Amino acid sequence: MDISDNIARINNKIKSAAIQAGRSVEEIKLIAVSKKKGVDLIAAAHHLGLTNFGENYLQESIEKISSINSKEIDWHFIGNIQSKKSPQIAQYFSWVHTIDRAKIVNALDATERKIKVLIQVNVSEEESKSGVTANGLMPLAEMVIESKYLDLKGLMALPSPSLDGKINEKEYEKMNILSDQLKNHYSPADELSLGTSQDFEMGIKHGSTMIRVGESIFGKR
Ligand SMILES: *Cc1c(COP(=O)(O)O)cnc(C)c1O
Repeated sequence: MDISDNIARINNKIKSAAIQAGRSVEEIKLIAVSKKKGVDLIAAAHHLGLTNFGENYLQESIEKISSINSKEIDWHFIGNIQSKKSPQIAQYFSWVHTIDRAKIVNALDATERKIKVLIQVNVSEEESKSGVTANGLMPLAEMVIESKYLDLKGLMALPSPSLDGKINEKEYEKMNILSDQLKNHYSPADELSLGTSQDFEMGIKHGSTMIRVGESIFGKR
C-alpha cells in the first residue's frame, strides 16, 4: 500500500469538494487518524507533509507520541475520555475533540495546561453515541469559555453510519447550523470536526474545517 498515493488522492478530493462547496481549501485541515498504526507509518505520513494526527487509545498513543517525539506534529485526541486520564491527555495532546460533559471540562481544566478543545455533539441522537445533545450544547460551551485553561475552538460530530451507502445529510446540515450558532455567540470557536474516510466530502459540503481520515490514508485496521 502506498500512502503517498493515498494522501495525493485525498488531497485532490478535498480540493474538489471545497471547490464544489465554494470554499477555500485552506480552511480544511486533514487529520490523519493513526490509531492501531505503527510509528513507521506515522513517520512516513509526516515526511509526506502531514502535521496533524488523531489518536483514540491513550496508552497506545502515549507510546507512539513519545517515540516519534516531534514538535512539528499536532496530536489530536479523538477517543472517549475518562476523567482520571485527563492529566495524561493534557500532557500529550494539543487538541481534544471529544469534550462531552461538565466533569471532563473540570478535569481537563484542573490540569492547568492550555488545550484546544472541541465539544462533541451527538447529532444522530443514538443512545450508544457520546456527545452532548443540541440542547445541552450551549451550557457546556459556556462552561468551557469560562474555564481558565481550555480554549474552545468549535464542535465535533460522528454522524450515524451510512446505510447502503446513503448518508443522512440532515445530520451534516444540523452540525453546520449548530456551528454557526456557536460562532455567533463566540467567534473563536470556528472549527467543525466532521467527516471520516467514509464521508469527508459530505462534511466539507457542510462546513467541516477538520476531517479525520484513517483507513483511506493508512489502509484497513
Ligand atoms: C477511527 C476514527 C476516525 C477515522 O475513521 P476512518 O474510517 O478510518 O477514516 C475518525 N474519527 C473518529 C472519532 C474515529 O474514532
